[in-house]
Amino acid sequence: MSKILTPEERQSLQKLWANCMQPHLGRPVVTLIDARKNDQIRYFSGRPCKRGHYAERLCCNGACVECLKLTQPARYEKIKSNPLAEQRRRERATKWRKDNKTKMLQSHARWRAANKGKLSALHRNRRARKKNATGTHTAEQIADLLWKQRNKCFNCLRKLDGKYHADHVAPLARGGTNDIGNIQILCPSCNCRKHAKDPIRWAQEQGRLL
Ligand SMILES: [Zn+2]
Ligand SMILES: [Zn+2]
Repeated sequence: MSKILTPEERQSLQKLWANCMQPHLGRPVVTLIDARKNDQIRYFSGRPCKRGHYAERLCCNGACVECLKLTQPARYEKIKSNPLAEQRRRERATKWRKDNKTKMLQSHARWRAANKGKLSALHRNRRARKKNATGTHTAEQIADLLWKQRNKCFNCLRKLDGKYHADHVAPLARGGTNDIGNIQILCPSCNCRKHAKDPIRWAQEQGRLL
């Protein structure tokens, strides 16, 4: 038999329910039936267990994972390191990537747009590895160097305005390292002129070498 609630009662009940839901805000709630359809090992029901845990449950028997930790630690360890579960997780991830190719490409493109500095550092490090040069550097070190050069080209002292090239002082091809100590920041035009010339002649021309 159900009772008709007054507005006040309903409100207080809603509040209570909202408070109960607080611990897992943002976690997707899945029913056991859906979880089994998706071949999941565990699911999150959104409701507390009899001990009051807001935790995942096992699809095989609906047992709370937190309770399992308390009552059967050995079994919990076994389930945690279940190779079958790991394999299924990997298969699901592969399938997701296959089904969501455009989503993946978009997310990659977003990351590339937001992390241009990191990307160029990764490219330089990779190029250096290919040429068997030692040393690595990070995007943060480049930003630091930019600050030390007061955002100016190391060669012509022109302001850089966000357009710059991180250049190896001693070229990788001539045994230079890829460490931040061997890097200077040049404006695009200086960098192009440098690359077109023999490095020693270039340094002589810039008056930095006899
Ligand atoms: Zn529990
Ligand atoms: Zn310059």
